[in-house]
Amino acid sequence: METEKVNVNEAGEKARNFLEEIIEKDVKSGKHDGRVLTRFPPEPNGYLHIGHAKSICLNFGLAQKFGGKTNLRFDDTNPTKEDVEYVDSIKEDIKWLGFKWADEFYASDYFEQLYLWAQELIRKDLAYVDDQPQDQMRVNRGTVTQPGKDSPFRTRSVEENLDLFARMRAGEFPDGSRVLRAKIDMAHPNMLMRDPILYRIIHAHHHRTGDKWCIYPMYDYAHGQSDSLEKITHSICTLEFDVHRPLYDWFIEKLEIFQSKQYEFARLNLTYTVMSKRKLLQLVQEGFVSGWDDPRMPTICGLRRRGYTPESIRTFADRVGVAKRDNVIDLSLLEFCIREDLNKRAERRMAVLNPIKVVITNYPEDKVEEIHAVNNPEDDAAGKRAIPFSREIYIERDDFMEDPPKKFFRLKPDGEVRLRYAYLIKCNEVIKDDNGEVVELRCTYDPESAGGTSSDGRKVKGVIHWLSAKHAVPAEVRLFDRLFQNEDPDDVPEGTDWKTGLNPESLKVAKGFVEPVLQNVEPLDRFQFERLGYFSVDYDSKPGNLVFNRTSTLKDTWAKISGK
Ligand code: ATP
Ligand code: MG
Repeated sequence: METEKVNVNEAGEKARNFLEEIIEKDVKSGKHDGRVLTRFPPEPNGYLHIGHAKSICLNFGLAQKFGGKTNLRFDDTNPTKEDVEYVDSIKEDIKWLGFKWADEFYASDYFEQLYLWAQELIRKDLAYVDDQPQDQMRVNRGTVTQPGKDSPFRTRSVEENLDLFARMRAGEFPDGSRVLRAKIDMAHPNMLMRDPILYRIIHAHHHRTGDKWCIYPMYDYAHGQSDSLEKITHSICTLEFDVHRPLYDWFIEKLEIFQSKQYEFARLNLTYTVMSKRKLLQLVQEGFVSGWDDPRMPTICGLRRRGYTPESIRTFADRVGVAKRDNVIDLSLLEFCIREDLNKRAERRMAVLNPIKVVITNYPEDKVEEIHAVNNPEDDAAGKRAIPFSREIYIERDDFMEDPPKKFFRLKPDGEVRLRYAYLIKCNEVIKDDNGEVVELRCTYDPESAGGTSSDGRKVKGVIHWLSAKHAVPAEVRLFDRLFQNEDPDDVPEGTDWKTGLNPESLKVAKGFVEPVLQNVEPLDRFQFERLGYFSVDYDSKPGNLVFNRTSTLKDTWAKISGK
């Protein structure tokens, strides 16, 4: 599969996608009086992921564009897998993304109406109760190349069907013993049209309807009718549902109800990412991640905790566009979107993740200077802050090499380097411990070089970040990498579990230091740590015990791939 290229027309504007074209045509022709009503229909059986975010942005975005509205409908027809925990998280995530739904509905609100409609289909001789055992039913469905066989129960009378269906509802029969099926065509070329199941018996507690029901409608029977009840004009779903469309239309036609229409677009797939709720649940339950909101998860709550902004996710959804064919989007496009957004609004700070101490021998012992630095060069309104400077500082261990290669412009013995916002320093002495490890550097500073420029015009190429040792605040820093090792997470050796593809290095914890102004940060505050990346404050963070998550590094891999 190919990486998607965004479709741009000659004027440099993004071309309208095919769904916008369809809706525009409908609005112009006065269909449904020009009304546009879409819906986002999650099943509350897990947390939303970035694929759902794409669907949310599309459904809400399309409605907004045409002055319409969007409903939130929980597709809660599967009591054994669903829970209010998921309902609550879904609502929170949609709001956080910045969207407001018009009405909040539940497919379970429609159980009574769906039941009445099922009776109507029975009366029209378009549905029947089937007692065939499950494996028999499977065999009789036929195959793609062979027609199926009619069930021996297909010719039951309307009266008998009505009676059996009522007794199914009344709880007289055990799970799996009978189903209600539509009577369509057992030889239909589309397998889904071969007398699809409308209802199955499940004696299970439902998170909303409690024990009121022991028969539950199937997705195909519930979805279109729910759309119709809400008078949804454009019901947008992912490509795999295109084979379901004839069935969607069949129910609406036979019941003679409001004609919602279904349209399909390609689901979002991302490199290095699994996007099925079943698999994400497994990662949570088996402890491979700390929870649904682990910052390595592609869930919306995981991305939020990682430091992603709603704006960056909306921009991403927009850039991905709307395709009619399946494709895989490069994860670096998502990273590009958050970098672009945070570059504009994240304040800059200095942090040292792997410190080595530098003593500036000609700097007075007790002196502390306040150095003023701009918070964000991209945003004048962000103002300035004071950073203390003193005789002992920390620099990044990587910024010093005792025996460097030619093009190493950072600190080296007898070399000079610029301290960001501060002075030029020169390394005179390297102190090691008994194991030969460098533990301290002795340097001198040039008092005439405040702000980092020399008074005699000598050029110093390297600039490094630093913190005053006695003012630096300790912090835990969580460095994340991709959760999976391969572009296609399913690309694992034959016969091994998909989880063998997990990246064992996806989380590294560093104990570093940050600027003192960061002492009072709140969870989800976002910063750029200069030269290190974008970071946000984790929920685990407390004053005195700061925890930062790396949202992304500063290195842009998307520009390279896309050739921009
Ligand atoms: P999963 O396969 O992850 O369990 P799902 O499709 O079963 O997802 P639903 O809760 O039924 O999850 O999805 C709600 C809506 O989000 C549906 O309209 C669905 O088509 C859409 N959706 C789900 N995954 C994606 C995706 N990867 N890209 C775009 N839309 C998606
Ligand atoms: Mg689904």
